[in-house]
Amino acid sequence: MISLLGRTTLITGGSRGIGRAAAILMAEAGSDIAFNYACREKEAFEVKAEVEKRGRRCLAFKAQLARESEVRGTVDEIVRAWGRIDILVNNAGVWTYLEMGHLDREILDETVDVNLKSVFHVVDAVVPHMKKQGRGWIVNIGSTAGVRGEALHSHYAASKGAIHAMTKSWAVEFAPWNIRVNCVAPGWVDTDMCNGVFSDPAFRESVRQSIPLKRIPAPEDIAGPILFLASDLARHVTGAIINVNGGSVLCG
Ligand code: NDP
Repeated sequence: MISLLGRTTLITGGSRGIGRAAAILMAEAGSDIAFNYACREKEAFEVKAEVEKRGRRCLAFKAQLARESEVRGTVDEIVRAWGRIDILVNNAGVWTYLEMGHLDREILDETVDVNLKSVFHVVDAVVPHMKKQGRGWIVNIGSTAGVRGEALHSHYAASKGAIHAMTKSWAVEFAPWNIRVNCVAPGWVDTDMCNGVFSDPAFRESVRQSIPLKRIPAPEDIAGPILFLASDLARHVTGAIINVNGGSVLCG
């Protein structure tokens, strides 16, 4: 029913977690997949193999999203190879601690560079191609933190709140070119990002209990809504923030 046959997708941060799950699911739905990773080469090659096993083409790029030149180089290489980018999933991100009163400039800068500025750079590089094509799908990965804030992670919450605002702004800005821009806002997800906190079984259980559906989702639980928003089934959806959090934060 959902088909991405003949489409090309760029996913940032495709080597692990949500990006990995989205790459495999979208390949299953028929899309060729290009993705970047920061340093985990082995994991990236495993994802490439999974995509190719499903009969799709795959390009994997080692590219630091904090560096604009590497973002532009990646987009240029995909367009040179495939001629187009139909779908863009802005997924890569970092989640770190920052206690106010002890502001660590490096941590703040990393979050702003990777979670926020890189998304401007990726979209700025991709959108001219989508405009030329006369269609495109952009799915940004936000967070419940961007909706309700997050103590000790205000820098992360601010970057994700910005993603939500950028989604709404770009939905209207790009609509004349038939480019849809939506956002998936996950709550807790069982990925490497949360390994540190989830290594405490009591904390993990308290998180599970706090979620009305009483389950901590796998990355695949987030990939499904991403696929939907990148498909023709969502053709009249733009500017939406879809909460994927088991009912734990019900505003957006
Ligand atoms: P992971 O930590 O599991 O994976 C992060 C991915 O991003 C990896 O592919 C990593 O590459 C890549 N990446 C990280 N930093 C950079 C960088 N500077 N340059 C290039 N690539 C980079 O993350 P998740 O799958 O958990 O998270 C994906 C998105 O979902 C993020 O935006 C996150 O904020 C959001 N999210 C996650 C939640 C969660 O609970 N996990 C909750 C809400 C939102 P490499 O493998 O090479 O390191």
